[in-house]
Amino acid sequence: MRIVQKFGGTSMSGVARIKETARIVRDEYHRGHQIAVVVSAMSGETNRLLTLAQDISDCPCEREVDALLATGEQASATLLAMELDHLGIDAFSLNGAQLGMRTSGAFGRAKIDHVDANHLIAAMDAGRIAVITGFQGVDIDGNITTLGRGGSDTSAVAIAIAVRADVCDIYTDVDGIYTTDPRIVPNAHKIKQISYEEMLEFASLGAKVLQTRSVGLAMKYGMPIHLRSSFNNITGSMVCREDTSMEKASVTGVAYNRNEAKVTLQGIPDQPGIAAGIFNPIAKADINVDVIVQNISAHGMTDITFTVEREDYRKTMEIMHQHCADLKASHVAGSDDVAKVSIIGVGMKSHAGVAQTMFQILADAGVNIEMITTSEIKVTVVLGEADVDRAVRLLHTAFDLDEGDNA
Ligand code: ASP
Ligand code: MG
Repeated sequence: MRIVQKFGGTSMSGVARIKETARIVRDEYHRGHQIAVVVSAMSGETNRLLTLAQDISDCPCEREVDALLATGEQASATLLAMELDHLGIDAFSLNGAQLGMRTSGAFGRAKIDHVDANHLIAAMDAGRIAVITGFQGVDIDGNITTLGRGGSDTSAVAIAIAVRADVCDIYTDVDGIYTTDPRIVPNAHKIKQISYEEMLEFASLGAKVLQTRSVGLAMKYGMPIHLRSSFNNITGSMVCREDTSMEKASVTGVAYNRNEAKVTLQGIPDQPGIAAGIFNPIAKADINVDVIVQNISAHGMTDITFTVEREDYRKTMEIMHQHCADLKASHVAGSDDVAKVSIIGVGMKSHAGVAQTMFQILADAGVNIEMITTSEIKVTVVLGEADVDRAVRLLHTAFDLDEGDNA
């Protein structure tokens, strides 16, 4: 098999962990596989470098910030290559420019244009192991760029696609994706196989295990991702194309996000342009809006409620107060103690009544639902933050996700 292995910051934090990581690489190599490795900076290093830049200047030059941040991955790649060499493996490090990871010139959020894979494939064919810096590339003018926080997942997937790997193994400090947060539901279980679509929903709800972009990229090319831990040898979760041959449970997992706030505009004239009028200034302030609900109008007047991330709450309220008069809204209200709970599953496509079951469970428990949105594979409710743990537990049980309920 041809495998691209990616190791995150916790697998690279300090000499002892790097040695452990090198043993994982060696063992896989000795099983007869062709290997390329992608690494993150040691955990905390990217933040440390960012702080240094901010200590120098309130607004450091973006080009230099990217060049600075890229050193974190360069250090860990070279150290791992040294340790592999010490273990008798023909290994060498490559930074983004040396590999030929071509990106756009958008510093701090560069997009990958092309990965020059020929020499990498030749090295793998020859039994050599390249240890490649994640998170970075080079633009057409030779500037070092970075891909955005958590970007080495995306680097690894892009490299796996370029070398036509059989799988991209992403090693982290958790051994996979669980049916829900085990801190809330101790008998949550690991999902053995999860579709890209489901993983995208989990990732967008704040499951920080994989950078969302990396899942989108893997989905586009059908690259399987094996999400696993570098702290044990247990099989993790396989993120791959939906297996249509299997009868699916209706719900794969329950996700939540406490980082929510809601804002309501009341008594706005129901006319063309009101939504644009509300959301233009919010978009200009770079604030992401998530769930939006507009009421049916009564006497030509309507209400709109929407959610934003909690850290954007004050700013959003300020903007809405500023625009209240232009929008002819009678009142602006909001609260920052709401949260989102979602059930996710591709099985919903073929099971009827899943949303209704969710609403009934919450109703029976006296949980008030404030807003609802659905997609083909997800039902999300916005509710009071105080109800999150209870709602998650009840839904996990109701949809037969407790350990022992299914395989
Ligand atoms: N080192 C970078 C970060 O901390 C990239 C990564 O770890 O994926 O965001
Ligand atoms: Mg990461």
